[in-house]
Amino acid sequence: MDKKTRAKYEKLLVQKKKELEKAYLEKIQKSGDAGADGTLDSVDEASVNYNKEYWYSLSDSDRKILRLINDALQRTKEQSFGECLHCGEKIEEKRLEAVPWARYCVHCQDLHDKGLLQEEEE
Ligand SMILES: [Zn+2]
Repeated sequence: MDKKTRAKYEKLLVQKKKELEKAYLEKIQKSGDAGADGTLDSVDEASVNYNKEYWYSLSDSDRKILRLINDALQRTKEQSFGECLHCGEKIEEKRLEAVPWARYCVHCQDLHDKGLLQEEEE
């Protein structure tokens, strides 16, 4: 995959990450005592970091996606982005456009979904 294509997916990944962060901010702002003690004044987008509070406020699926996004962002800095982590085949561009954090090609994803793929996962 060339640099330009990788940059395109990197942008998609960052965008998705921002969406998750934004949803988090909206959630805490709506959570009742927003502003009551002024603590939320210090919360802005730049300060959303991977603190515990943020991490635990996410739903399991968001957390999982965020982890996959971070992994994928790491891979965009290497040549390996866009290759299946299992078999090394190129992941279809169509698939990457829909799910830029995809780790596996369709075939290996299928095995993974059926629990037939050995991997480290929590
Ligand atoms: Zn594969």
